[in-house]
Amino acid sequence: MADSKLQVLFDQVVDRNPGEAEFHQAVREVFDSLAPVVAKHPEYTDAAVLQRLCEPERQIIFRVPWTDDRGDVRINRGFRVEFNSALGPYKGGLRFHPSVYLGIVKFLGFEQIFKNALTGLPIGGGKGGSDFDPKGRSDAEVMRFCQSFMTELYRHIGEYTDVPAGDIGVGGREIGYLFGQYKRITNRYESGMLTGKGLTWGGSQVRREATGYGTVFFVEQMLSAAGDSFDGKRVVVSGSGNVAIYAMEKVAQLGGTVVAFSDSSGYVVEEAGIDLATLKEVKEVQRGRAADYVERRPDAAMGSGGSIWDVPADIALPCATQNELDEAEARVLVRNGCRIVAEGANMPTTPAAVRVLADAGVLFAPGKAANAGGVATSALEMQQNASRDSWTFEYTEERLEEIMRGIHDRCLATADEYGLPGDYAAGANIAGFTHVADAMLALGVI
Ligand code: NDP
Repeated sequence: MADSKLQVLFDQVVDRNPGEAEFHQAVREVFDSLAPVVAKHPEYTDAAVLQRLCEPERQIIFRVPWTDDRGDVRINRGFRVEFNSALGPYKGGLRFHPSVYLGIVKFLGFEQIFKNALTGLPIGGGKGGSDFDPKGRSDAEVMRFCQSFMTELYRHIGEYTDVPAGDIGVGGREIGYLFGQYKRITNRYESGMLTGKGLTWGGSQVRREATGYGTVFFVEQMLSAAGDSFDGKRVVVSGSGNVAIYAMEKVAQLGGTVVAFSDSSGYVVEEAGIDLATLKEVKEVQRGRAADYVERRPDAAMGSGGSIWDVPADIALPCATQNELDEAEARVLVRNGCRIVAEGANMPTTPAAVRVLADAGVLFAPGKAANAGGVATSALEMQQNASRDSWTFEYTEERLEEIMRGIHDRCLATADEYGLPGDYAAGANIAGFTHVADAMLALGVI
């Protein structure tokens, strides 16, 4: 790290949070951009803003017992990390995936602070989840798990306190069961305590689409700043969950062609373009695998060997999970002429891969900027809940587009201000950090 004071602080974070590699990675990525900021603003150091930012305000870990369909009792671990509430109630999703442990939740919660700050909306940062794996579980099992999870979580959350949403493994079905149990326990129809709700019970238009659409709106701005557009571009999108599917949809609407997607079982290539109706049927209705898509599409094939990043593309959108695009894969992207990488997922590109892209002049949009459309639209859902109103799809999408344009411009302007033109990652880190740091200074040492 260039700045010795930041290096000391980072070493303290590693010492205080042993074994949490993803959290260390997320902190380092932000600290790497902050040397010029702490040099210009000694008041941040004097008030220990960085140390406070790296220490969550509250961390909750709890037992989640539930009974499977055979009658056996299962135990999972639940988490909610309430990281920073300087700007508003904690806000951030819940992830249900077997890889979830405290280090993953803390990395996601830490990222969320800056992402939420970048949106300019009044939301703090938090994240939660469980090592529960919904894959292969019946609806009844998922419901019992969600009910047990909420039976503990409910006492820590609320419209003015902490507002969870979905993430990997938590979609509309899970949000429904979680909301139902909260309502039952509290006897309150408190719509604003959870976002990603169904449209007939307090949800917002465009929330389902928001993260994917927002990522693509962000890329549209990057293209436009370079005098270009999506027209005729080949795009590769990893994942085939909520973010990936709606990123693909918006790319197609803007004139690009998505030629490949993936899930954890492999990747699929279809040169003429992935058929979204089929993909939605396989993934959203049947909860099937990549091979089920290939079975229905004669011109599609499973990729053989390597990874999805071997498929030549002008634009790559990693939309699956953390550290899914490594240094060697970044070199392949560069060799194949890729010009833009934008993160729909959180931290999908390893630090070494980011360096390869930067050295090759590939434009890189970090997740905390590019995928902020999801949480931004969650904040719009809270706004509609508070006013007991519901907006049209068109109006909500316009608001999303405007927010993404604002984030894009803020990243570029901040990068310029600090002498780093075109560096979206530095712009996002610095703009997010200063926004939340100024609020922390104003609120005193708490
Ligand atoms: P989903 O659960 O809907 O989809 C996740 C997709 O990624 C699936 O296709 C899944 O494949 C794949 N995937 C997950 N883990 C792995 C893994 N370890 N290896 C390979 N593939 C994997 O999640 P979302 O689309 O909601 O989230 C995707 C990413 O976007 C995450 O990083 C999330 O934090 C981020 N994000 C999500 C937001 C949202 O609004 N949902 C907002 C902002 C960021 P399989 O089904 O085979 O596991």
